[in-house]
Amino acid sequence: MKVAKFGGSSLASSGQVRKVLNIVKADPARRFVVVSAPGKRNPEDIKVTDLLIELYHACLENKETDSIIQTIYNRYQAIGAPFKVDESILKQIYKDLQSLTDMPIENNRHFYDTVLASGEDNNAKLIAGVFQAEGLKARYINPKELGLIVTDEPQNARILPKSYTAIYQWRNSEEILVIPGFFGYTEEGEVCTFSRGGSDISGAIVAAGVKASLYENFTDVDGIFAAHPGYIHCPESMTEVTYREMRELAYAGFSVFHEEALMPSFRAKIPVVIKNTNNPQHPGTRITTERQNHDSPVVGIASDGGFSMIYISKYLMNREVGFTLRVLEILKAFGLNYEHMPSGIDDISIILRANQLNPELEEELMRKIAYEIDPDELRITHDLTMVVVVGEGMKKRVGSMAESTAALARKKINIEMINQGSSEVSIMFVIHKDREQDAIRTLYYTFFE
Ligand code: ASP
Repeated sequence: MKVAKFGGSSLASSGQVRKVLNIVKADPARRFVVVSAPGKRNPEDIKVTDLLIELYHACLENKETDSIIQTIYNRYQAIGAPFKVDESILKQIYKDLQSLTDMPIENNRHFYDTVLASGEDNNAKLIAGVFQAEGLKARYINPKELGLIVTDEPQNARILPKSYTAIYQWRNSEEILVIPGFFGYTEEGEVCTFSRGGSDISGAIVAAGVKASLYENFTDVDGIFAAHPGYIHCPESMTEVTYREMRELAYAGFSVFHEEALMPSFRAKIPVVIKNTNNPQHPGTRITTERQNHDSPVVGIASDGGFSMIYISKYLMNREVGFTLRVLEILKAFGLNYEHMPSGIDDISIILRANQLNPELEEELMRKIAYEIDPDELRITHDLTMVVVVGEGMKKRVGSMAESTAALARKKINIEMINQGSSEVSIMFVIHKDREQDAIRTLYYTFFE
């Protein structure tokens, strides 16, 4: 039994929904269908979720909302039109959109989430209607009825473990269940969404709950590329990748599959496959606990920008008990989250996401470190990018680091920092952002051509 999740681009138009219908019809094992809100039909288009954000702001600013509601409704209406979907479903969607504008706004922590979640919720109703109109035994199910209970953290909900037991009860459902992705309900019955792109997480939770044999994540590419196609012309696509590799890649900017969606499938040991709605015959990329094919030591090269690095050096730092703790306490006092902290004998570097900083905060932070730590040298560097070479195969192989650094040296790329965890799943280089593309290219051609 399989859980199939379809992303926004797979549900953006009636033509795309026809493909989804055919995919579901083609395999009777596809019993649970998790849907996103309708996405973009072309690069200039606007996702329904983004239209709902506009609606939210219009409500907040007490502006006219009828035209946005109509625009959103038209998206659903256009998708449903060729399928002769039951009129009452579309009426219900329109009513639901209008009722959002009647909700209390003041002191309502869940208003934003409720508005956004309606994108998926209404789409699940519509897709279930399409399936029924096309002769499938299917029905919409609300996450509350399903038992998808989450923590009360708006826009950042986390699943509560008891949900898995509740969802398991639906395992033998006679009908195909069409489930809206992206949100769940708190124990108090409020809507809370996952972070953006979170329908992947819903799919993973349902797959773990019903103990599916496979979680199929349908998107608009033939699988996960080994490097960003914006940097490499026609990069190879991966046939298989392990959870650990995927975690590293997702962390460093691979966005095909939401990084939080890995955990539920990993814990429940359910294989995931990323497939293309537009080319369902293609085998896609499988995410598994263990990779069968170790031909290539490296599976992918990822990169993510927007980092800053604080460098602190102090002679005999290694003998000072509690040195790092004091540095971390300063970060904590400033509410800063750090990503990496490689260290030498007399120095440490702290790498953090630059979007947490602003010039005033930075000045104060540096002053505080200088005062409390009394370093010999202290500086902060901005505009850094992290480039990560990922592959479990590197564990058993000599020379991956040497080849990577040689490749960067050939292109005269200065490495600000290197980090390789003892797991040896990845090697991370911090470089100046202007050399990102060169770094990705030289590393890619070192390991893939
Ligand atoms: N519709 C939501 C978003 O755009 C969730 C998703 O598509 O997975 O973020």
